[in-house]
Amino acid sequence: MQVIDTIYIDGAFVTPHGSELFELFNPATGQVIGHVRLADAEDARAAVAAAKRAFSAFSRTPQHERVAMLRRLHAAVLAREDALFEAIVEEYGAPVSRGRWMAQHASNVLRDAADVLEQYAFTRRAGTAEVTMQPLGVAGLITPWNSNAGFICGKLAAALAAGCTAVVKPSEMSAMQTRIVTEALHEAALPPGVFNIVTGRGDTVGATISAHPDVAKLSFTGSTAVGKSILRTGAETLKRVTLELGGKSPMIVLDDADFDLAVPLALQAGFMNSGQACIAGTRILVPQARLAEFEAKIVDAVAGIQSGDPRDPRTSIGPMVSRKQWERVQRYIRVGIDEGARLLAGGEGRPEGAATGWFVRPTVFSGVTNAMTIAREEIFGPVLAIIAYRDTEHAIVIANDTPYGLQAYICSADTARANAVAARIEAGRVLVNTLAHEPAAPFGGFKQSGIGREYGVAGLEAFLEPKAVIAA
Ligand code: NAD
Repeated sequence: MQVIDTIYIDGAFVTPHGSELFELFNPATGQVIGHVRLADAEDARAAVAAAKRAFSAFSRTPQHERVAMLRRLHAAVLAREDALFEAIVEEYGAPVSRGRWMAQHASNVLRDAADVLEQYAFTRRAGTAEVTMQPLGVAGLITPWNSNAGFICGKLAAALAAGCTAVVKPSEMSAMQTRIVTEALHEAALPPGVFNIVTGRGDTVGATISAHPDVAKLSFTGSTAVGKSILRTGAETLKRVTLELGGKSPMIVLDDADFDLAVPLALQAGFMNSGQACIAGTRILVPQARLAEFEAKIVDAVAGIQSGDPRDPRTSIGPMVSRKQWERVQRYIRVGIDEGARLLAGGEGRPEGAATGWFVRPTVFSGVTNAMTIAREEIFGPVLAIIAYRDTEHAIVIANDTPYGLQAYICSADTARANAVAARIEAGRVLVNTLAHEPAAPFGGFKQSGIGREYGVAGLEAFLEPKAVIAA
């Protein structure tokens, strides 16, 4: 039983003023595995004050010193990869291959930010002006549970690269990962107050940071509903805001696609991170003329997908993170059936053999229209909707007919044709015949999937503001 009873403020592990104990679960068993003592609003204010004190000196550190700091942070998190992996599997239930990727991603993003910073020119000329990119100030960084360690490191990396100081509010459900990451980051010996990490509830610690007049920038990843409330709260003090929110990404299978490639790609895109991924390709758009062929192949393929013990290497779908999330996914499966979608695979309840734990059957619906709830709302579980289309124009209309616009996928035998479709898709990223991540490219959403971009130069500049000096 783990007890996590410290937060990190001003370079030290301290006992929070907050006294609420929050239970941590192993989602594969449903058992309580620990407790975290949550920070409260007073702790959040202390963290902001520490970050504010540190800002003046840190914002003026030479670029090469910050590159060196990021490289130290990278080395420290890399050294804790195995412990982080264990925590991710235990507390989040990621299947081992995904958990390993997530643990590596947490250190990779620090290295990537160091590489971007090394090449970045903070000063440029615009006519007679010298324009300098200046750090915004104290940044509030708020992360979700579905990739907590990666988001802590990624957001912090960009903020520190820019010369901002930070207060991180991790997901309260991911305290074991947060503890390991915090211990690692502490070992890199950055000046006190440069980053502070306060685990607490969203409506106390998160809301305090979002409203605080000394916080200049908010970077949030989470649900669209909370993102909107953060935007409203931050508006009072005109905070700069980056929001990475939900998605309902289309996987567009063009009529020339090889289904032996398209079907596995669609399932990987849809079931990634056990379906708890904002970028999951949850709407599979299939040409009407080849629908039966696609359905037959996907039914075969889903039969080979294991949803179960995350420590079994054959598992590709682990449990949902919480009972609440499991119930939410079950509710959407019921809604899909009630609205008349045709269940091709899966359905309500746990997979065979799973008596406990928050496991979901890999579920695929066909006969879905884009107006159905399961095609419009983010489910955040392994539930996919096949929507038939008449022709490519129709596919593009369906793909764009969503309030979201985070990511899209296209499968085609003809890359030029796929690229022409990609040009017309309203999404921050479009992946053609691949699921590859490109850390140098901007990441973020169109429409209600968010505001702003992370990663690469765009991610760095999200923590900077241009200042023009025009001298006689
Ligand atoms: P959530 O929005 O409930 O919580 C995210 C974070 O915000 C948590 O740390 C939470 O404590 C905090 N929070 C909650 N209320 C707050 C408030 N009023 N003020 C400030 N902070 C508050 O989301 P979640 O359930 O943790 O994560 C799942 C959601 O995140 C999904 O909808 C998913 O699509 C989205 N997500 C998006 C991306 C992306 O990059 N676009 C990535 C991962 C997850």
